This record gives sequence, structure tokens and C-alpha cells, in this order.
Amino acid sequence: MPRTRIDAGIIVACQDGEHRILRDGCVVVDGNEVIHVGPSFDGPVDEVIDARDRLITPGFINTHAHLSESPLDKSLLEDRGRRQFSMSGLAEMLPIRGAAIDEEARRASIDYSMAELIRTGTTTIMEIGGHGDYTADAVEHAGLRAYIANGHRSGRWITYDGKRMSYEWNDDEGLPGLDASVQFIERVSGRANDRIRGFLSPAQIDTSTERMLRESRRQSDALQVPLALHVSQSVFEFDEIVNRYGMTPVEWLESIDFLNDWCILGHVILTAGNSWVQFHGDDLSILANHNASVAHNVWVFARRGIAMESFPGYIDAGVNMCLGTDTAPQSMIEALRWTAVLGKVISRNTEKSTARDVFNAATLNAARMLHREDLGRISAGAKADLLFWKMDSLFMVPLRDPIKNLVYSATSEDLADVMIDGEWVMQNGNVANVDEPTVCAALQAAGERMWANIGPGDWAVPPRTPDELAPPTFPDFASDVTLAETPAESATA
Ligand SMILES: [Zn+2]
Repeated sequence: MPRTRIDAGIIVACQDGEHRILRDGCVVVDGNEVIHVGPSFDGPVDEVIDARDRLITPGFINTHAHLSESPLDKSLLEDRGRRQFSMSGLAEMLPIRGAAIDEEARRASIDYSMAELIRTGTTTIMEIGGHGDYTADAVEHAGLRAYIANGHRSGRWITYDGKRMSYEWNDDEGLPGLDASVQFIERVSGRANDRIRGFLSPAQIDTSTERMLRESRRQSDALQVPLALHVSQSVFEFDEIVNRYGMTPVEWLESIDFLNDWCILGHVILTAGNSWVQFHGDDLSILANHNASVAHNVWVFARRGIAMESFPGYIDAGVNMCLGTDTAPQSMIEALRWTAVLGKVISRNTEKSTARDVFNAATLNAARMLHREDLGRISAGAKADLLFWKMDSLFMVPLRDPIKNLVYSATSEDLADVMIDGEWVMQNGNVANVDEPTVCAALQAAGERMWANIGPGDWAVPPRTPDELAPPTFPDFASDVTLAETPAESATA
């Protein structure tokens, strides 16, 4: 195994369990592992890389993604929200979109995601889209590190009239799906030099039976794998759980012994106390007491005008906060920035929701949830998952505090090189194992097929057209010249 010393301008190195800023230091990588980080290294090496114009940080752990669908959110879901469902797009848009996406489009989305994730700082992705085997192949080829779940569910939500939500349940409660998920984990875990592992994802709290959730928790404990669940993500879901059980979604999970330190709950936005639900309780203390983690996907809600109340409040309550991307764009750079800023807006406190808080969420907190002391940090024994940022580029200068510059100013253009598991997956802005023009063309074609197929899955009769569901921002330019006056004619009229 080659041993490489990387001399860098700044390294965000881990010491005594927290990130520290090391200037003019070095990282020594042996195979897929960091074996040393410090001011210098006197041992023998096979190679020295001069990265004195680079800031090296640990790669980001993205804890919530739906790779086979999310890239196709663009140009469709923005600027639209249904009042009846408190602005959630879950009830109305997802069934329509799901019916319009073909298999080839899902594969195109996954392929595209590989480049998008690497370019925007994700080195470990937690994917719950349900195309696990294809995703595993794509991840192995692109060089990412991934936790993949082939989701299972007891039922699904549906609206027949656009006014109220209904649920359709499977007789088997999704238990055969859980068995298939367990088999998937056993099939993929350890692949690609152990870059690929599996986890369990029983869809959403309101589409799960108690029996299925209890069985999922039992399997998570047996396999020692993360257990993801969408929780408190819409007003209709919160109200449904309150109506069913007389408890908040988080309270109900506690009551059925679901919560523990393997749980990574997606969203948890509409908790007791949130102004959208107006319901008393102390969900945050429950999460903290059980060491459950939250995958906070700020953008998918912020885009609809909905916010966690508040990100720093959850931290203060002791909840282990992690970050994810969920929708498009699948950018951890954006996730860090929006989380920090919106946390300040909602808490009305500039000094809360800091660069430190979001950087920790994207690294150490997520590693704690994964029970991985070898991820989310740069220290001896950690996997060599490293981001190399430019220190002298337009958006990075002047550079005094590297974390503040990353969180509040950096763009994907400032991320120059990415190493995962000791391998270069991006160098000088070129993603190594993905042909970007090809995946972009395939995603464009996928989008065009999907937009043409919009209609089935809509509750409206007849189904609405794409332009009715997602009106264009501006009308088309009038091509009939007789309708348009020239500026000169206008001036003389
Ligand atoms: Zn999700």
C-alpha cells in the first residue's frame, strides 16, 4: 500500500474529540486510512503531495437522500404548495411525479447524483430511494462511500379529492419488505472495500404499523445498522398520529420502544411546540433521552416557507443533529449554509446556529449516529475521506477562519479535489469516474420524458397538465411578430 504525505496550508484535524485548525501541517495517508496528522512527519513515505494552497477538511456525511428521484425535483416542485396540506408537496406532487418517472430516468438520476454529491462535498451518502442494487453499482464505480437502504412500508398515503389524506394498507404490513431489506443489507454490506454498507428504512411513520416498526427496530439491533424513518414531516402526518394514538409522532415512537442511538429520523420539523402544529409536548427531550438523531434537511422545507423551530434549540435540548440534502440540489455546501442561516433567523440570535454547529452536524455528529469513529474527522485511524478546498480563490479570500468561509461563502467551484477511501474521486475540479456531459444529457432526457408523462397519479379529474401543476415562471415569448411593437414604433405612437 502506498504511503503519502500531504503537506497542506490548513487542515481541520481532530484532537480530543473535536475539530481543531492546524496550519502548515501534514496528513499521512496509508492505503485507505489516515495514519498521522500533525505539524510534521518524519517517517518514510512513498510520495509527497504539495497542497500548501489547499484547506483540507473531512468529507461530509449526508444522512438523507433519495437519489433516484431528487434530481428530477428541479423545474417542477418549486414555488408550489397546496394550502389544504399546509404547503406540503408530499400528498399532491409526489404521487404524480412517481407515476411519471420511468426506470431509465431513475437510473439517470442515480448516475447524475454521483457527480453532484462529489462536487458538493458529500463523501458518505445515506440513500433511501429503493433502487439499492443499482445504487450500489453506481457508488462502487464512482468511488463514494455509502449506506444504502432498500426501503419497506406497511402502506401508503393517498388523496382522492385533494382535500383530505387517506391511507391504503398492505395486508402483510410490509413485513416481507423488511425481510427483503435485511437480505439486501447482507448482500451489499462490505462491498467495494467496505465502502458500501446497508441500513433499514421503514418509509414514513404514518405509513408504518406498530408491529412493523417494532420488528424493524429488532432487526436494526440484531444487525447493528442505522434505522431511518420519516417523522414529523407534514401537518397532516402530525395530525394523523395525534388522531390515531393521542400522542405526537415522537411520543408514539417512544411508547413503542422504537427510539435508540441507531435511529436517524428524517426531518422532525413539526414537533410539539412548532407553530405550524400548535400542540404542547416535549419531543426534543424524548429524542435526547434516547440518543436518537435527526437528519435535518433544511432546504426541502425552507423552499416551501417552513422551518425547524429551531436548529439551535434542538442542539440546546441535546439532540444529535445531522444534515442531509433530500431534494435538489443535493449539495452539502448549501445544506450547511441554509441550516446556519435559518437557525439564526428562527432563533433570532446571530450567535446561535454557528458555523461550528453545522460543520459538526455534517461530520462528527453523523459519525456518532453511524457508530463510526473512523469517519467525519481527520485523525490517525480515520478513513482517508478528504476534501481539498482552494485557499486563494475568489470566494475564499480573505481567509482567516476557514470554517466560516466554507459555511458562509464557498461554492462548489472552491472544492478542488476529493479523496475517498484513499482514492482520488475528483482532482482539479474533474470528477474522475463519472462522465458529466453524458449523465447531464441523460438527466435532461429523463426530465423531458417525465414532464411529458405528468397526469397519472393526480387526484384531479381530468388530470392537470404540467403547466397547471407547475406554472412557468414567465410566459413564453410571443413568436407572432404582429403582436409585438418595436421600441421605435412605441416611441412615436
Ligand atoms: Zn426523505
